[in-house]
Amino acid sequence: MHDHRKLGRELGLFGTDPLIGAGLPYWLPDGALVRHALEEYVRDLERRAGYRHVHSPVLGKRELYEISGHWSHYRDEMYPPMDVGGEQLVLRPSLCPHHALIYRSRGRSHRELPLRIAELGGMYRAELSGVLGGLSRVRAIQLNDAHVFCTLDQVEDEAVAALALIRRAYDALGISVARYRLSLAGAGGKYVAGEWDRATGILRSVLDRSGLAYDAAEGEAAFYGPKIDVQIADGAGRESTLSTVQVDFHQPARFGLEYVGPDGAKHRPVMVHRSIIGSVERAVAQLIEVHGGAFPAWLAPVQLRLLPVSAAELPYAREILERCGDLRAEVAPDGSLGARIRDGRLVPYQAVLGPREAAAGQLSVRLRDGSRLAAAPADAVLARIGADVRQP
Ligand SMILES: [Zn+2]
Repeated sequence: MHDHRKLGRELGLFGTDPLIGAGLPYWLPDGALVRHALEEYVRDLERRAGYRHVHSPVLGKRELYEISGHWSHYRDEMYPPMDVGGEQLVLRPSLCPHHALIYRSRGRSHRELPLRIAELGGMYRAELSGVLGGLSRVRAIQLNDAHVFCTLDQVEDEAVAALALIRRAYDALGISVARYRLSLAGAGGKYVAGEWDRATGILRSVLDRSGLAYDAAEGEAAFYGPKIDVQIADGAGRESTLSTVQVDFHQPARFGLEYVGPDGAKHRPVMVHRSIIGSVERAVAQLIEVHGGAFPAWLAPVQLRLLPVSAAELPYAREILERCGDLRAEVAPDGSLGARIRDGRLVPYQAVLGPREAAAGQLSVRLRDGSRLAAAPADAVLARIGADVRQP
């Protein structure tokens, strides 16, 4: 596997500047294209799985995090509060409290459950500068997050479905799982008192029902409950957590969440926290390393590169470019043909446009493995490529 920091620089995907600060990378146009394609894929996947998307602010009052428990159990990872007009505002360390309040914004009936609320949203972690690097450890995180508010009877099915969604996304992205980890509470005051045994029993059953082997690890749980961590490995074999599924009895109680049951009485929902691709930053870091920059065609920043053999074919190349529609295409007019083909070795499709192609209105396309598609009328070739690059 490759080092995403080196490749990210070479391919012009992202960069850093000491004036912005460590752990605060910016995304260049090609990196932003990959990121947007990934975000769109995840949102579509979630929408089809019955999630509703929301947006919520990256700030909240300190009081919000006192209620959620972050303030007393997670403050070391948070930025200090900002004083604004007598109030204290906090950069959020997670999206859960905002989603709990969205749930609580009106009365809820058992008929609405499971209620799946999703957001690709910003959150912040006060990591020390020594541990930061590239996209894999950052201070400003775009998290693919969701919270399923459900009845106790629904928790297991929801968690099983979330794990299945994670596996489906990994297949589409070409990411492999290093191992599944059941992360449990450990010693020390980091964890809330609560229904740990019940939540842990549910997650064990979820893993068993999903047919997945796993290791249990003490001291790796969230402060409010145990979780299933989907571990990935980087080029050097270092493990990190990309996706998670968590069962939480704590925050619904802290926020006083309720729904009206079939019996007309008020009941407390359970929260399943789940992330399919984890942080967008870490997911893209992994994609860069796994694919060595040769992204699946639907994620590639440039999908089709047009190489006019000489200046005489440049008008034909421009004409083709205009017919590319949603396809991410570019014309590469300068340099020797061999050098241009090498420069574009990570681009899924490259078309060499010579006098013959221009005269016949055809395209002949070479793929990354060096094989070629038979020359055919340009519209037919563009339609075929368009179908190949469609989001899975
Ligand atoms: Zn959460």
